[in-house]
Amino acid sequence: MKNLVLFGPPGAGKGTQATFLKDTYNLIHISTGDVFRYNIKNKTDLGILAKSFMDKGELVPDHVTIDMLNAEVAKNLDSNGFIFDGFPRNTLQADALDELLKSHETEVSAMIALEVDDEVLVQRLLKRGETSGRPDDANESVVRNRIKIYYKQTAILKNYYFDASKYYGVNGVGSVEDITERLKAVINNL
Ligand code: AMP
Repeated sequence: MKNLVLFGPPGAGKGTQATFLKDTYNLIHISTGDVFRYNIKNKTDLGILAKSFMDKGELVPDHVTIDMLNAEVAKNLDSNGFIFDGFPRNTLQADALDELLKSHETEVSAMIALEVDDEVLVQRLLKRGETSGRPDDANESVVRNRIKIYYKQTAILKNYYFDASKYYGVNGVGSVEDITERLKAVINNL
């Protein structure tokens, strides 16, 4: 199995790139944010709980997120592998992912990070908020809080995967096609 963690701050382009990469490599794309949004739309208990955190730009509690991720992986064990988008977001989640994949006799192949400057992120997210219908994109203070939480809790995962010799940084500024090509160059060499 090829299991990729697509990494980067909110607005780095993870979701956009994952939709191209999943077709190229025949992988299952799991975006934890998308799964939460699906549950919000369908007014499930998970959705109602997740919404109270997402609207403020905060992380949904780990046990809830990890249980949900485990269930998504369990549905697709016959696949070629996964693109994890928006997960893990802290060390506890990274440990949980390692454990989960190990229990299925596989592992994270690589973390590929899209690197983009903060001000570019804020502008991209606010622009996306004009059309995405995502309340957490439309409000500048929520956008800035998401980026702040990324640096406080998530960015540290660079070291986690770097120490395991699994970290690859890619310039996330440029045309969508150019960035896809940069990502493919990394993945084809794994
Ligand atoms: P995203 O679509 O990845 O930008 O995520 C949108 C929101 O969903 C985040 O701001 C969090 O509130 C929540 N979320 C998504 N993934 C996770 C995760 N791995 N852990 C905790 N909360 C998450």
